[in-house]
Amino acid sequence: MDPDCARADGGGGAGTLSTGECPGLVRAAAEARRLAYCPYSEFAVGAALLTTGGRVYCGCNIENASYSVTVCAERVALFAAVSAGERDLEAMAVVADGAGAPRPCGPCLQALAEFAPRLRLYLATADGAVTEEKTLDELLPQPFGLRSGAAR
Ligand SMILES: [Zn+2]
Repeated sequence: MDPDCARADGGGGAGTLSTGECPGLVRAAAEARRLAYCPYSEFAVGAALLTTGGRVYCGCNIENASYSVTVCAERVALFAAVSAGERDLEAMAVVADGAGAPRPCGPCLQALAEFAPRLRLYLATADGAVTEEKTLDELLPQPFGLRSGAAR
């Protein structure tokens, strides 16, 4: 895990948060945002994903000269969590520039829905102000699935 992410709980822990997690999770996402590699769009995004076990996984957007290779912060955090063996996800904070809430894109919503179709989302501006709280199924009510009504 990114060391900045490990300080998400306020400095004393090892990347864990308890359930009233919103401020710490937003802070972790804001720290992850500072690591964004976005020379083309200059739109830095950070994401912090909380597991039901209290672990936090962070991600930033990583752009590429071949634009389609670019990966969003939300999926970087998700893939970090899943590749560490995590499957039970509770909440995600996403932080980006702009006055409005930085909603995750469709592919990120679909990727998250695979594991947590009702994931809580805290959408915040770069200064850490939460502008919107949603559940994933509010933003993506009918995710793709191989079976009718899929998404666990
Ligand atoms: Zn995305």
